[in-house]
Amino acid sequence: MVIGVLALQGAVSEHVNMLSQCGVRAKLIKEPADLQDIEGIIIPGGESTTIYKLLVREQLLQPLKNLIQNNFPVFGTCAGLVLLAQQESLGGLNGEVKRNGFGRQRESFESLIDVEGFTEPFHGVFIRAPYLKEVSSDVKVLATLVDGRIVAAQQKNVLVTAFHPELTMDNRFHELFVKQMIVTSEFVDN
Ligand code: GLN
Repeated sequence: MVIGVLALQGAVSEHVNMLSQCGVRAKLIKEPADLQDIEGIIIPGGESTTIYKLLVREQLLQPLKNLIQNNFPVFGTCAGLVLLAQQESLGGLNGEVKRNGFGRQRESFESLIDVEGFTEPFHGVFIRAPYLKEVSSDVKVLATLVDGRIVAAQQKNVLVTAFHPELTMDNRFHELFVKQMIVTSEFVDN
């Protein structure tokens, strides 16, 4: 199994390391031709406006959008969540996103989070993190913080976290993504 990691800007190598911990090969995605032979893709954290501009410049926006619309498995962290929640950008997640949602005082913070389906809390590393305000009924909320701010969610083929699992030693979200991919590909094969 090979998973792509969008490698235009942001925390790329950390995701590659996480995937190798899960026994999965990673392929860096820099241009449309790289999208061949991957079974899923990670959109990393970084700066979403910059990544958006680079997606347009490298002619990756439309091919990726099409893949995502056709149920291609995608995992977005932080800026990746922003891009997936903005329909004019990658789309795929039906929700309203608030960028830099935790304001100045809490630009960066860490918090233990209860995640749906995990028996132990997850160490969330938040860096100028967004959150989801409202999501449509087909979005499964996996974790919330204060005031019901949604910080992890899943909608069909799309998994998102507002925090950075790749900056921890905990690969449970990457494992969840890999498991989700296997289920999706079985579904597609049948
Ligand atoms: N605030 C950034 C944005 O909106 C995301 C920050 C991050 O990915 N750590 O792009």
